[in-house]
Amino acid sequence: MSVRRPGGMTALDRYRERLRETPTCLECGHTDEGGEWATTFRSRRLVYRHVCPRCGATDRRVFRLDGTE
Ligand SMILES: [Zn+2]
Repeated sequence: MSVRRPGGMTALDRYRERLRETPTCLECGHTDEGGEWATTFRSRRLVYRHVCPRCGATDRRVFRLDGTE
């Protein structure tokens, strides 16, 4: 696995890149084609949520803006 660091890429950019993928439910394995992550910003944290249209499970990812992961 090679490590590439494009100039100007921040941790947040990398995070967004990762979440650009089609959401796949961790519970039932359903791939939500065209599905999107809902983003909420609260107290220096960016919260991404995706609710599975098939089973209703919520997948949540939290990105902390204070630099810690
Ligand atoms: Zn599901």
